[in-house]
Amino acid sequence: MGKEKGFIKIERSHPEKQAVDQRIKHYREFEKVFTNDNAEKQSERCMDCGVAFCHHGCPLENKIPDFNNAVYEKNWKRAFEILDSTNNFPEFTGRICPAPCEASCVLSINNDAVNIEQIEKSIAEKAFKENWVKPKLPEKELNKKIAIVGSGPAGLACAEQLRSKGYAVDIYEKESKPGGLLRYGIPNFKLEKQLIDRRIDVLKAAEIQFFMNRCIGKDIHPKSLLKDYEALVLCIGSEVPRDLKVEGRHLKGIHFAMDFLTRTTKKLEGLESEWIDCNNKNVLVIGGGDTGSDCIGTANRMGAKNVIQLELLSKPPYERTADNPWPDWPMILKTTSSHEEGSDRKWAVATKRFISDDGVHLSGAETIKLEWRKDKNGIFKAYEVEGTQAIIDCDIVFLAIGFVHPLLEGFLSEIGLALDKQKNIKTTQYQSSVAGLFTAGDAHTGQSLVVNAIAEGRKCANAVHAYLNEDVSVDIVYNEGNPFAL
Ligand SMILES: Cc1cc2nc3c(=O)[nH]c(=O)nc-3n(C[C@H](O)[C@H](O)[C@H](O)COP(=O)(O)OP(=O)(O)OC[C@H]3O[C@@H](n4cnc5c(N)ncnc54)[C@H](O)[C@@H]3O)c2cc1C
Repeated sequence: MGKEKGFIKIERSHPEKQAVDQRIKHYREFEKVFTNDNAEKQSERCMDCGVAFCHHGCPLENKIPDFNNAVYEKNWKRAFEILDSTNNFPEFTGRICPAPCEASCVLSINNDAVNIEQIEKSIAEKAFKENWVKPKLPEKELNKKIAIVGSGPAGLACAEQLRSKGYAVDIYEKESKPGGLLRYGIPNFKLEKQLIDRRIDVLKAAEIQFFMNRCIGKDIHPKSLLKDYEALVLCIGSEVPRDLKVEGRHLKGIHFAMDFLTRTTKKLEGLESEWIDCNNKNVLVIGGGDTGSDCIGTANRMGAKNVIQLELLSKPPYERTADNPWPDWPMILKTTSSHEEGSDRKWAVATKRFISDDGVHLSGAETIKLEWRKDKNGIFKAYEVEGTQAIIDCDIVFLAIGFVHPLLEGFLSEIGLALDKQKNIKTTQYQSSVAGLFTAGDAHTGQSLVVNAIAEGRKCANAVHAYLNEDVSVDIVYNEGNPFAL
């Protein structure tokens, strides 16, 4: 396993990134892939720790020490086979995963974690270059048809797993191009869209059919899919954005983050003529998570005059605190590449109202400082600090404060789908209250991560297979709660 004491002799390194002043001039990816030599060197840091917490930390249970060792031994094809056995799309997670595996790497107790994500990306890119990525055609056809609604990472992973078992799989998608949030949420500078097209070609070669521009519940009745297919899987994401219902919300210039990000990507793809232009504008991003960070990176690329980001919570510590020990997810300050590109981050601040000079267009936001302390029941609550009101001048606001639940118009009254307390689709072993109707991904868990969506798609495929085959048993562990809500 790795080179003996490699973790002592070799420091963690990172592939080269383009300088900020250069990369904000374009929307392309700006981080290189490790050279083979560098990836092999970094994999030497994996230290045969005995109990591989990284494997446990990864929702896909990637066999990380095994692929690290194969890279160390320069057996890249073997490394790809190991990675591909648990992760359908390592080229995506190798770029945009927050890497819970690294947070639980044993080396990270008192050193920098193994750079697992970048090694994964190197393996995936080498596999595509060497033509090792093949369509997963089944050994025998089962002559049963499954419909999947939604072509995000959950739907695509579920489709590939079911197809490899022998089902005929049709994917229905309301957009004109597949990929879900991989395509229209995550900006190009984090994930270039030809990487999605490259993967879709592999899925099409496995004879998975894609039906684009089909909104189920609007263009096609879900009942007709339930009739025509042996099972139906809803992987429709969690699209309803959380709103900020304060005075002045109606003013021109206030947008949901997703409208901004989607229109930007569509304009870059030639699918939209207009975008929300931030050039020379004062931009206020409300919401301190990854979606907010993507708005910052996009606004800076458009030439925003100034970008401010507000977060309700207090500034996290730079290091783990005593009540947040390894291998738990570290609740520490995260600075993304978009933050590096320029923004003023304000912590523990709430927005009281939006202001206009002419009664129509936004000209500012009134804010107030918050203090977080425990109430008499020991629950952390935010208290406004009197006398700390301030006005932030802004021409554009992006609301990046999360998503509340899936958009289920055309499903609920029509087919009587039961929902859980959060208004996500309620399930038992991935099956909804409607026989033969399954769900996976954000529609099931609430807005989460690509790695969780892939894991959900895989587990749901097993549940569908068990439902259609009495001799197959299924025992799927579904973890309630979502520690990575965006
Ligand atoms: C701005 C943003 C940035 C993010 N960045 C990251 C990141 O860096 N790393 C990370 O791990 N995660 C990130 N996430 C989260 C991640 O993208 C999601 O958790 C993941 O894409 C969920 O996958 P999914 O397949 O469940 O749903 P989605 O990706 O949302 O896909 C759902 C698909 O269903 C389609 N659909 C919906 N309703 C219908 C219908 N009625 N008929 C037909 N089709 C329908 C939609 O058009 C869409 O294509 C980000 C999310 C956002 C919003």
